[in-house]
Amino acid sequence: MTPADGNSERQLDGISASPGICIGKAYLVDKEGVDIVKQYYVQPNTVQDEVNRFKTAVKQATEELRAIIDETPDDLRQHAYILETHMVLLKDKMLYERTIEAIEKEKINAEWALKKIVANVKGMFLEIADAYLKERAADIVHVSDRIMRNLVGAEQVNIGAIDKRVILIADDLSPAETSQIQLERIMGFVTARGGRASHTSIIARTLGIPAVLGLGKATQQIRNDDLIIIDGTAGVVIINPDEETLLSFEEQKNRWEEYQARITRKGRLASETLDGVKINIMGNIELPEELVSVLDHGGDGIGLYRTEFQYLSRPDFPSEFELYDRYKDVVDVLAHRPVTIRTLDINGDKAIANGSMADEANPALGLRAIRYCLKKPDVFRTQLRAILRVAVHGNVRILFPMISSIEEVDAAIAYLDETAADLQREGIAHNRDIEIGIMVEVPSAVALADLLAEKVDFFSIGTNDLIQYTLAIDRGNREVAHLYNPLHPAILRMIKRICDVAAEKGIMVTMCGEMAGDPLHVPILVGMGMSELSMNPHAIPEVKSMVRAISTTDAEQIVADLLKLSTSEQIDKLLHDTYNQTLKEKVYNGHNGVAAHH
Ligand code: PEP
Ligand code: MG
Repeated sequence: MTPADGNSERQLDGISASPGICIGKAYLVDKEGVDIVKQYYVQPNTVQDEVNRFKTAVKQATEELRAIIDETPDDLRQHAYILETHMVLLKDKMLYERTIEAIEKEKINAEWALKKIVANVKGMFLEIADAYLKERAADIVHVSDRIMRNLVGAEQVNIGAIDKRVILIADDLSPAETSQIQLERIMGFVTARGGRASHTSIIARTLGIPAVLGLGKATQQIRNDDLIIIDGTAGVVIINPDEETLLSFEEQKNRWEEYQARITRKGRLASETLDGVKINIMGNIELPEELVSVLDHGGDGIGLYRTEFQYLSRPDFPSEFELYDRYKDVVDVLAHRPVTIRTLDINGDKAIANGSMADEANPALGLRAIRYCLKKPDVFRTQLRAILRVAVHGNVRILFPMISSIEEVDAAIAYLDETAADLQREGIAHNRDIEIGIMVEVPSAVALADLLAEKVDFFSIGTNDLIQYTLAIDRGNREVAHLYNPLHPAILRMIKRICDVAAEKGIMVTMCGEMAGDPLHVPILVGMGMSELSMNPHAIPEVKSMVRAISTTDAEQIVADLLKLSTSEQIDKLLHDTYNQTLKEKVYNGHNGVAAHH
C-alpha cells in the first residue's frame, strides 16, 4: 500500500479533550451541508426544475413537522404550538413566495435563493424593536434550516439514535448533542472545532470517553467505517493503523483501563493532607445520571450541578414539577451530603433550542446565565421554586452563575426571597434557610470580591470562564487553545485574592472549574486555603491521592514561591520540578498520568 491510496496509517494531531484510548470504526455526523451552501446560476430551461426542487423540500419539511407534532405525547401537546408556528412559516409569503421569485428572476439555485431571502427577512425582523417579533427571527432560521437540510439532503444528526458501537467524527458537537451520547454505543469522538475548556470536552470527561477536538480540516481525511484509534490523553487520532500500531495501542488501552479500575478503588480513601486537614472533594454533574459516577469515584457531594442541560434539546421550558423531580432524584441519593444546584447558565456555548440568541455576535459576552434569568423572571422563578422545595429533603446549596456586579446578587436574592414568600403563602413546603453562593468567573467579581463576600455564604471559582474572560481567550476556540492556561500568573493572583478575601470575611471558598480536577494544581489550591474542590467525577481519585500526599505547610510555601514568578512557563516548571516525583509515586503509581501533563 502506498500513502496515496488513502488506506495507509496516518496520524492527526488535535487538542486532548478527554483522556483514554479507544479503537473502532468511524461514524461521520457531518452537518456541513447546511452551513456551506452551494451557489450557482441555473439555465433558463431548468428554472422550473429548481422551483420544483424547492417546493419538494418545503413539502418534506412540512411532513417532518407534522410527524413530530403527531408523535408528541398528549401531556406535552400544549408545547407543540411552536412547531405549529413553524408549519405556518413554511408557507409564509415572505419566505416561500419570495424564494420562488428569486429563483425565477435571478436564475439562481434554490439553496442560494433561500439563503438570500432568509438573510433579508431576518434583517427586517431584527430591526423591529418589539421583543416578540424579534424572537420570530429565530423561528425563521429554524424553518429555513429545515428546508435547507432537505434541499442539500443532509440528515439532521440524532446522536441518541445511533445504534452501532462507533467513534463519532463531527465538524462540531454542541453540548446538547454531546449530552445525548449513549455510553454503550459511542466509544469516543473527534471534532474539527472546539477547545479544551469547551463544554463539549467537559462532558466527554464526565462520561469518561476519550475525545480529541480541534483537528480542523484534518477530520475530512477520515471516512465512514475507517478503523481509527483515539488517544485522548495525547490528543492524537490515528487513521488505518497498521498491525504493529494496533497492537501497541491495544496494550496501552488495557493498561489505561487497569489503571482506571485501580485508581477508582482508591477513590474510597479519605482526602486528608499529611498534617490532617480535610479537603472535601466533590463532583460536577450535568445530568442526574452522572451522580453514580461521582459516588463510584468517592466524591463527598455535588459541588456543581449544571442544571442547564435539562433545558437544552427541547422546544419548551421544563415545568416546576419536572425540575423538582430531577433535583429530588439527586438530593435523595446524596442524602445528607451537599448538593450545589447552580441556577440556569444558559447561552454562551449552551444555546437553548427555543432561544432567540442565534444572532448574538459575541455569545460569551451576551445574554448568558444570571443575565438571562433576570430578564426572564418566569423562567427564573420556576427554577427557584423547584430548588427551594427540594431543599426540604437534603443539604442543598444554591449557586448563581456569571455574577459581575452587586446589583445582580441583590436581584437574584430578592427573587429567591420573593419566591419563598410565594411558597409560604401557598402553603407549599420549602426551605429558604440554604447556603447561597456565587460563581466567581468574571473579572469584575474578583475586583468586587470584598463587597460580594458580604452578601453570600460562599464563593465558587469558575476558572473555565475566569480564564476566558481574564485572558480574552475563547474557551471553545482551537486557534487560541494553546494560550488557555490556568497557571498564568494573572489567574493565580486572582485566585489568591479571592481566597484571601474569603478568609478575611469568613466565608467558604471552593473551585469548580476544570483547574480543580488536575492533581498538579492541588498544592496551589490547598496552599491558598481552599477546603473544598469540585471536579469531573473521573478526576476525583487522583486529586484525593494528591491531597493525601501533601502537607498544608508545604503547599503554602509553594504558593509563596509561585507568586514571585512572572511567567506561566516558570510557574509550570517550578510546579513540575517540585511535584513530579510525588505525582509519579503517589498519584499515578507508575502510570503516565492524564492529559494535562503533556
Ligand atoms: C467555569 O466557568 O469554570 C464553570 C465551572 O462553569 P461552566 O464551565 O459551566 O461555565
Ligand atoms: Mg462558567
